[in-house]
Amino acid sequence: TERTLVLIKPDGVQRALVGEVIARIERKGLRLAAMDLRTVSVEVARTHYAEHDGKPFFDSLVEFITSAPLVAMVVEGDRAIPAFRQLAGGTDPVEKATPGTIRGDFGLITQFNLVHGSDSPESAAREIALWFPGL
Ligand code: ATP
Repeated sequence: TERTLVLIKPDGVQRALVGEVIARIERKGLRLAAMDLRTVSVEVARTHYAEHDGKPFFDSLVEFITSAPLVAMVVEGDRAIPAFRQLAGGTDPVEKATPGTIRGDFGLITQFNLVHGSDSPESAAREIALWFPGL
């Protein structure tokens, strides 16, 4: 079994897609191990997205992520990391995500692509420690 960090970003919360996203996670057979609605600090957002520090969209991404509440969760199950990435679809909701995925069905703009999921076991460990220390 594996754990992954999933975020329903502020756009997903504002558009009332929390239930929709959780339903897809549960129907896939994955389980919730932790969940919290919170507004995050600039420090947490910058640490979470540290790999993108210096890119043109970094400041705007941090501003967006900290702008309103998001839902953070730890999702677990067999191959949870790639399984959630499959549910989410590609980063660009139009060019990469296909219909049937969360981003493909509900997204339009890359920055506002509704969800985040850890991309590797190393990222998952780092992100779970950042968002849910002690879990
Ligand atoms: P996430 O890490 O959120 O799951 P991802 O792994 O699909 O997304 P990354 O390349 O890690 O995509 O980018 C992280 C986030 O930064 C994206 O989800 C998106 O919100 C934002 N982002 C990425 N590329 C761009 C871009 N070109 N313009 C604006 N925002 C972007």
